[in-house]
Amino acid sequence: MTLPPAAPPSGGSLDPVDWTDLRAQGHRMLDDMFDYLAGLRERPVWQPAPAGVRAGFSEPLPRQPSSLEAAHGRFMRDILPYAVGNAHPGFMGWVHGGGTAVGMLAETLAAGLNANLGGRNQIPVEVERQITRWMRELFNFPEAASGLFVTGTSMANLVGVLVARAAALGRQVRRTGVAAQTPRLVAYTSACAHTCIAQAMDITGLGSDALRLIPVDRDFRMDAAALRAAIAADRRAGLQPFLIAGTAGTVDVGAIDPLDTLADIAADAGAWFHVDGAFGALAMLSPALAPLLAGIERADSIAFDFHKWGQVPYDAGFILVRDGATHRAAFEASAAYLSRESRGMAADSPWPCDYGPDLSRGFRALKTWFTLTVYGADRLGAAIAHTCDVAAHLARRVAAEPALELLAPVALNIVCFRYRGNGDETAADDAAAGDPAATRGAPGAGAVDALSASDLLNAAIAQAVQESGIAAPSTTRVNGVLAIRAAIVNHRTTPADVDRLCDAVLRIGAELAALAPEPEPIP
Ligand SMILES: *Cc1c(COP(=O)(O)O)cnc(C)c1O
Repeated sequence: MTLPPAAPPSGGSLDPVDWTDLRAQGHRMLDDMFDYLAGLRERPVWQPAPAGVRAGFSEPLPRQPSSLEAAHGRFMRDILPYAVGNAHPGFMGWVHGGGTAVGMLAETLAAGLNANLGGRNQIPVEVERQITRWMRELFNFPEAASGLFVTGTSMANLVGVLVARAAALGRQVRRTGVAAQTPRLVAYTSACAHTCIAQAMDITGLGSDALRLIPVDRDFRMDAAALRAAIAADRRAGLQPFLIAGTAGTVDVGAIDPLDTLADIAADAGAWFHVDGAFGALAMLSPALAPLLAGIERADSIAFDFHKWGQVPYDAGFILVRDGATHRAAFEASAAYLSRESRGMAADSPWPCDYGPDLSRGFRALKTWFTLTVYGADRLGAAIAHTCDVAAHLARRVAAEPALELLAPVALNIVCFRYRGNGDETAADDAAAGDPAATRGAPGAGAVDALSASDLLNAAIAQAVQESGIAAPSTTRVNGVLAIRAAIVNHRTTPADVDRLCDAVLRIGAELAALAPEPEPIP
């Protein structure tokens, strides 16, 4: 087949007439990003943006063009230095992945191709299906399992709740809604679960009141006996338990719920078993860690992120559903402009848009495919195991420092600790002095707790360490006590990096404690 010659650039085209300058500028931009990644250690992890830089982003809409070179210069000067810094090995706040140069390059290719992954007859969709097949293999899911890229685990959990809702009530719930639904559906998760599960209950119209927050044991794992009791009580009250959401790697301390037991309880209750494995699920890539997740292979759905432990650049959330037909029943719809054919570009159904709320979607699968292909699953698993080793090193260091105190067992890669100075009470003593029932087992849920002197000191230490640019921890609450929290997610972080964090906490802690020997607690 001979194609007619392509028309020359018309007046409307945004492409250059001559690509020479653009090509050279593009190479400079790429080089700058390689320099950035290669030189991360010479930079502060984070620095606050000067007010002038921030104000520069309140300009009126630019009507006239300016050069790519100028925009790139502005990026290098005003944007790149003031990101949160999660590519940096000293970044340990929240649960952020570090990304890789390979992922960055793949993202560039995806943007160049500008594929729309809603569907249609194209290999980019097949690449997304390849990721689904790999995840089936990793989690020991059946052939019938379906998968879908979404922004992140918040969205993947929402998809999980919607599929569970359709499984419980049939697809007609999509027409009737749940306002008049009797019996009312109720769901269960642990007191340590991420708040996006409650948000998913809210968004689906089931209501966050219908989510039971089950207490946890001393290791912050969902208490199975309490779960059974809650289900029995709800049944007696005429409610319909429809969903148990376990967590593989809680956001506060990295605890893993007893997934096998939860699978048994869900089977007995006839409820959907969903696992929020936002970062933790990919521990399956490490033969040493995978046994910790025993039972995850029995889940009806698993939500997780490639952009956390998988080191894929943002964003790359994923949902895997054991029964693809049920998954599709929760989302597929028909529209004339989306009709399916047996040949041509409208063939190759079902499409990704049949498995979730998005129609137009980017090619997240490509950076994930490159990451898994170039590094290989074993090396990624080793990087994940390495972050747990680094966390164990930090935990040992904290335990060895009299001025520091470990606040939770280290199950995976998250270390929660506090500066207590010499002669300060231990957190266990603090908790014993209060009402243990009020403080036990809801880390992160402590917004209502009064701040003690120790809490104020540790919050100030975390902020000062962030501002020092040496390391970036975040904070949370463990048993009511404010903790400095280091989540080792970035493949670049080494034992020396967490030692630097420790040294900074000790130095700044001593300075602040000396400045204010007896800070007044805020009531
Ligand atoms: C990070 C996280 C989430 C939210 O995931 P996003 O990708 O940020 O939307 C949910 N649950 C847990 C346990 C997490 O760690």
